[in-house]
Amino acid sequence: MSSEQFDALVVGAGISGLYQTYKLREAGFSVRAIESAPDVGGTWYWNAYPGCRVDSPANIYQYWFSQALLDDWDWSERFPAQPEIKRYLQHVARRFDLYSAIEFETRVASAEWLEEQAQWRVVTDTGKTFTARYLVSCVGLLSTPKVLSIPDQETFQGRVYYTARWPQQPVDLNGQRVGVIGNGATGIQVIQTLAPEVSELTVFQRTPQYAVRMKNYKVDKHIMSDWRADYPHISKLVHTTFGGFTWDPAEEGHAATLTPEQRNDVYEECWADGSLKMFVGTFPETLVDPVMNAELTEFVRNKIRVQINDPVLANKLIPSDHGYGLKRVPLESGYYEAFNRPNVQLVDVKAEPISGFYEGGLRVGDKEYPLDVLIMATGFDAGTGTLSRMGVRGRGGQSLAALWGRDIRTTLGLQVHGFPNLFLIGGPLSPSAAFCNVQTCVQQQIDWVTEAISHVRESGHRSMEPTLEREEEWVRHHDEVANATLMVTVDSWYTGANIQGKQRRLLSYIGGAHVYRELCEEIQQQGYPGFKLTR
Ligand code: NAP
Repeated sequence: MSSEQFDALVVGAGISGLYQTYKLREAGFSVRAIESAPDVGGTWYWNAYPGCRVDSPANIYQYWFSQALLDDWDWSERFPAQPEIKRYLQHVARRFDLYSAIEFETRVASAEWLEEQAQWRVVTDTGKTFTARYLVSCVGLLSTPKVLSIPDQETFQGRVYYTARWPQQPVDLNGQRVGVIGNGATGIQVIQTLAPEVSELTVFQRTPQYAVRMKNYKVDKHIMSDWRADYPHISKLVHTTFGGFTWDPAEEGHAATLTPEQRNDVYEECWADGSLKMFVGTFPETLVDPVMNAELTEFVRNKIRVQINDPVLANKLIPSDHGYGLKRVPLESGYYEAFNRPNVQLVDVKAEPISGFYEGGLRVGDKEYPLDVLIMATGFDAGTGTLSRMGVRGRGGQSLAALWGRDIRTTLGLQVHGFPNLFLIGGPLSPSAAFCNVQTCVQQQIDWVTEAISHVRESGHRSMEPTLEREEEWVRHHDEVANATLMVTVDSWYTGANIQGKQRRLLSYIGGAHVYRELCEEIQQQGYPGFKLTR
C-alpha cells in the first residue's frame, strides 16, 4: 500500500489544529492536517446551532502569534457568535496558507505506532495511508456528540437535529413546534434564541442549571482601538492567571478575612461583569468548602429567582441538588425569562423519563408532546471520546481506547506512556477547555509540543515518551488536587458521569493554568526529566 510521508500529522483543523500546523511548518517540519469537516473551525464549524456564541471575551479568544493578524482583525462583539469565530478561523487559515496543508472530509480510521521505523502509520476512512514520525491530536475536548438512543425514533415524522452536527444551511424553525433535550451551555443558548421565534417550545429538562447573565456589547472602533492598545499586556497576563483569563480569584484565605457583606460585594462585582468571572473570579474556597459554596449558591439562586415570574416554575429551574460552580457555568441572555413566555413549557424528565417517540412527537411517561422538530443538546463524550474512536495503537499494539476504558491517564495531558511521539493538545488531565480559556491553554501547549518535537529532532533522537513513573506521579497529583474540590461529588461531563460506563475522574487539571504552564516550562528547561528519548 503506498503511503504519503510527512514529518508530522495533525488531527483536527479547529483552533488548535490550525495553530499546531502553522507552528510545525514554521519550525521546518513537513505537516499534513486531517480534518473530518469540509472546512476549518472544528467546534466552530460543527456547532452552527441557533444562538451559539463564545463565552470568553473575544480580546482573549484569539491567537497571539502574529502582530499582523492582531492588527487587521476587528471583533464586532465582546462575545461573538459562532459565524464570526468561524470566519476568523477561516481568515487565519487563508492568511497563513493553511488550507493547502489540510486533508478535508477525512477521518482517521486507525493510527498505529511502527516500532522499528519509529513512525506512526495513519489510515483514513477515505482509504489513504500516511506515515509520520509525530502525531499530534488536536481533536478538541468536546467534539464527539453524546447520541441518545430513544425508542421508536424511526416512527417520528418530524426532524431531529443534534446541536453539535447542526446543518450549515439555515434551518427554518419559524412557527414550528420545537422540543429541546438538554439544558447545558448549549441547550441554554438554543432555548433563549428560539423561544421568541417558534410557535411552541417544549424543554425536556432532566437537571436544572445555574446560569449567569452574559453582558455582551458591540465592539465599536473606539473599543477595538482600546483592546488593541492592551494586546501586548493581556497576551502576557492571560498566561499568569488561574483560568487563562485576565482576572483571577481572590487569594486563598482572603474570604475568611471579610464579613459576609463584604463577600457579597465581591459576588456582586463578579456578577456585574457578566462573564465567567462569576465562575473563576470569586473565592477559591467556594469550590472546596461546602459552607462557602452554600453562601455563593444562595447568592446565585436569588439572582435567578427574580427572573422567573412563577415561583413553582422557579423551583423547577433552580438546582437544589448541587452547589453553584461545581459544573461548568453557562452564561445566558434571557434563558430563565424565556420560561415566562406563554409558548414555552418545561417538562421534568427526571420525575418521569422520556419513554419514546411516536409519529407526532415525544412521549414522556404516557403523556404525548406533539413536535415538528426535536433538538438534541445532549453534550459530548468529553476528553477521551474522539481519540478513543480513532483506533490508536501504541507500543506493542496496545490500544488507547482500551487503556482509557480502564483508566483515563496522561502525562500532563500532553503524552501517554506507551504511545511514543503521540502528543495531545487539550487532552485529558490538562487544564484544557474545562478550566481554561481555551485559546490561552492550547497555545501554551502547542508552543510546548513544537519545542519538544524540535528537541527530539535536533538532539538526534527518534522518539519521546513519558516514563510510567512520571505518568503515575502526574495522575496522582491531578487526582489529589481534583479530589480536594467539591466538583468530584457532582455528576457532569467534568467527571465523565454523563457517559455510561466511563471512568469517574475529573477530566481536566484544576491546579491552575498558570501553575501548569510553569511546570511545563520547568520540564523543558531541565531537558525533559520523566520523558524517555530514544535514538
Ligand atoms: P452538557 O453540559 O453535558 O449538557 C448536556 C445536557 O443534556 C444536560 O442538560 C443533560 O442533562 C442533558 N442530557 C444528556 N443526556 C440526557 C438524557 N438521556 N435525557 C435527558 N437529558 C439528557 O453539554 P453542552 O450543553 O453541550 O455543554 C458542554 C460544554 O461545552 C459546556 O460545559 C461548555 O464547556 C461548552 N460550551 C460552551 C459554550 C460557550 O462557550 N458559550 C456553549 C456551549 C457549550 P443532565 O444534566 O441531567 O445530564
